[in-house]
Amino acid sequence: MKKLLALLLSALLLTSCGSGAVSEEQTDATSSATVDTTTDTTTEATTTSSEESEPTPSTTESEPEAEASGSKILVAYFPCTGMTEQIAEWIASETGADIYEIVAADPYTDEDLAYYTGGRADQEQSDDSARPEIDGEVEDISQYDIIFLGYPIWHGQAPKIVYTFLESYDLENVTIIPFCTSHSSGIGSSAENLHSLVSDTVTWDSGRRFSGDATESDITEWLETLDLPESEVSEVSQVGVFNFETKTVLLNSGYEMPIVGLGTYSLTDDECAVSIEALLEAGGRLIDTAYMYGNEAAVGEAIRNSDVPREEIFVITKLYPTQYSYAAEAIDDALERMGLDYIDMIILHHPGDGDVEAYLALEQAVADGKVRSIGLSNWYVEELEEFLPQVNITPALVQNEIHPYYQENDVIPYIQSLGIVVQGWYPLGGRGHTSELLNDETIVAIAEAHGVSSAQVILRWNLQKGVVVIPGSSNPDHIRENLDLFDFELTDDEMAAINALDRNEKHDWY
Ligand code: NAP
Repeated sequence: MKKLLALLLSALLLTSCGSGAVSEEQTDATSSATVDTTTDTTTEATTTSSEESEPTPSTTESEPEAEASGSKILVAYFPCTGMTEQIAEWIASETGADIYEIVAADPYTDEDLAYYTGGRADQEQSDDSARPEIDGEVEDISQYDIIFLGYPIWHGQAPKIVYTFLESYDLENVTIIPFCTSHSSGIGSSAENLHSLVSDTVTWDSGRRFSGDATESDITEWLETLDLPESEVSEVSQVGVFNFETKTVLLNSGYEMPIVGLGTYSLTDDECAVSIEALLEAGGRLIDTAYMYGNEAAVGEAIRNSDVPREEIFVITKLYPTQYSYAAEAIDDALERMGLDYIDMIILHHPGDGDVEAYLALEQAVADGKVRSIGLSNWYVEELEEFLPQVNITPALVQNEIHPYYQENDVIPYIQSLGIVVQGWYPLGGRGHTSELLNDETIVAIAEAHGVSSAQVILRWNLQKGVVVIPGSSNPDHIRENLDLFDFELTDDEMAAINALDRNEKHDWY
């Protein structure tokens, strides 16, 4: 078991730090997320399904690897609004590091943190000698070879309590990798000004700033650029982190799901068969259908007729609200219509009367081995906050409308912070809207720069945001093109340019 060096005592501190008066970025999403994305939810959901079918090992099982490597990593962080803590947890999860929260002996209140009021933070940051007292300490810090050091930026610098932390120990021959969280300030001199606080034998990495919309994928990508010993970054997939090699993501249910697939909305039975055949031939393995689409039977038949082994294919279907009152029967009906022994995932199509009871029926279907993973569609922050306390298994997936004109930038990080994978429907805007989106001059310019199509740019943008895509198509050429997303990468500027296209323009409800 990973040793927890200090309890995550942040509830009180985070509440008091949530004024927004400091420059550490806070999104609604991150501030309201309270679940550890890689432990609680993973353990809970895996327990149920693993009894049935031995899914891919989950995060917690990877921890001994890092322990066994012989060199140790500590993530020490001082949190304020919650973003630093979230990033610290992601780093610890990815590297198998121990984690330590720097807790102020005298917690900071909103008043303390209000900028330019002459309050406590203002005073400390302008006083070279200020060293706020820390409650607790790291046990045997000499055992660590690498320390990730996280903090928000206050007045362009690390909070003085971070200075206290560094001066509290005789750090020798260790590598410190700083990371900071901030709206706009870079890590700049905040890290360099810490160098003189420790011995010359300490090696400093240049570090990295993260903004409030950083995702776990950003952290993974950053960690991959660092010169960490190979064995310290877990080889085992982490829940919710996209693996661009295998083109899959590990769900909190313990099952791997492809990150690109085919949506079958509005595909007639024949079109469905041809489209699924094209998908499977081109290597695609994820198919989205629904009771409402009237083509579950065709999807099931195409899967059964394929040479691709059943277990390689991941099929999602949905219960419609009209089915919620007899959900257990509806699940059996879906299995029968599709002619499959199990369904990889069933999700509720959208909120409606009896949705909690229907979800509990899905939970029972997981226990019965009829369904492997379960989730929701068209659930947003408020709906999730109300729904989740009423159920036992954290959804593995939330499928919502997401495209460049309707980006859900406030919703996606919130869902991901719960250890739930996000999947976007209408990735190309949906029928009737695709032309405008595919001809958007920003997207066309990016497509031309990479020698790919507009559709590929949009789909890749989703993947880089950690959103699984299920574009719909009955055209085999399009289906092949839509799977071909892994030989190019959008730059930060290109991602930002597409992010700037958001119009909050919803194209449909369900
Ligand atoms: P979409 O994927 O945004 O767009 C589909 C349209 O894009 C089709 O007209 C298709 O035409 C075209 N297209 C696909 N690939 C293309 C390419 N490479 N180049 C040019 N055009 C391309 O819309 P959608 O299919 O309606 O949505 C995707 C999936 O999301 C659905 O199929 C369904 O599975 C799911 N969905 C879920 C909900 C929900 O409430 N949960 C709601 C709506 C949809 P061609 O056929 O000619 O390729």
